[in-house]
Amino acid sequence: MNTNDSPTPSDRFSRQRRFSAFGEEGHARLARSHLAVVGLGGLGSTLAQHAVRAGARKVTLIDRDIVEEHNLPRQSLYTKDDAKRGVPKAEAAAEHLSAVGGPAELVVRVRDLSRRTVSELLEGADLVLDGLDNFEGRFLLNDYCHSENTPWVYGGAVAGNGMALLVKPDGRPCLRCLFPDADQSPTPDTCETVGVLSPLPSLVASLQFCETMRYLSGDNTSRLWNFDPWGGRVFAHEVKKGSGHCACCDEARYPALEQGDSLSAKLCGRDVVQVMPTTERTWDLAPFADRWEGLGKVECTKFLVRLHLPEAAISLFADGRALIQGVDSVEKGRSLYSKYVGS
Ligand SMILES: [Zn+2]
Repeated sequence: MNTNDSPTPSDRFSRQRRFSAFGEEGHARLARSHLAVVGLGGLGSTLAQHAVRAGARKVTLIDRDIVEEHNLPRQSLYTKDDAKRGVPKAEAAAEHLSAVGGPAELVVRVRDLSRRTVSELLEGADLVLDGLDNFEGRFLLNDYCHSENTPWVYGGAVAGNGMALLVKPDGRPCLRCLFPDADQSPTPDTCETVGVLSPLPSLVASLQFCETMRYLSGDNTSRLWNFDPWGGRVFAHEVKKGSGHCACCDEARYPALEQGDSLSAKLCGRDVVQVMPTTERTWDLAPFADRWEGLGKVECTKFLVRLHLPEAAISLFADGRALIQGVDSVEKGRSLYSKYVGS
């Protein structure tokens, strides 16, 4: 999908080009860049807007989820109609960003980021923007990007605290250097347990994109931003490789690329379970619409087929992945998957 059918007005980007620290050189590099946005929730919907509005050459929009009404207070790309129709976030994001226009080629990927899919989804990206909501996924990004010498920009927003970090192509320091145990922590704070200040994700994402522009302008100092707008505190520390041992930086070992993918998971903060098929193949969705006829309302779109049951809704995607809405445990999700989809 291309956002622009007519020539871009020559002054469209004049304000950012006139900002001397970024300037013509920074803009020219951005205009050659392919940016991948992973996760299109509170952080990602703002990141994707910045990437497109600022004039990137290509923007890959990656998200596994669909728009729901409770997203609307923070996720500025989406509308009530998207939520009502249950549109995949990547598809809705591309529709709205097409209306913004500009030079960016938009690539829609309604997929789950996992060890199996990461290289395919991020292939060719010059820089990766983190819009994820969990450390498991961020360590996968960290390890993949480190192994490929691809820069990426971490962002986190929980309760009233925001963080952002540019991880350079050499990874030093990388996320594992700074938060060695974050993916092992049994009870990390999440938006589910401690909530989130609704404007915070867009603040963090804007800061992530400032770091992206700074990197593209040629300044690749690593700074860890830590801020609390409610309490009026902002810190930006220049960070260097610490004294601790890091598997990626010290051994060129990538633990997240070696682990197996889990086949099911409860999504953060909601009664939604994601179930993966046991074998990798492309699924033909049309027969499911026929098979499910009479069981409940069935919807078919370009990216999914959905069955509304009294107790849950099953959205099945072409990679065999399903989101089961309305269940509160992985076991119930897997049981519905087996019954209505198969294995
Ligand atoms: Zn490291």
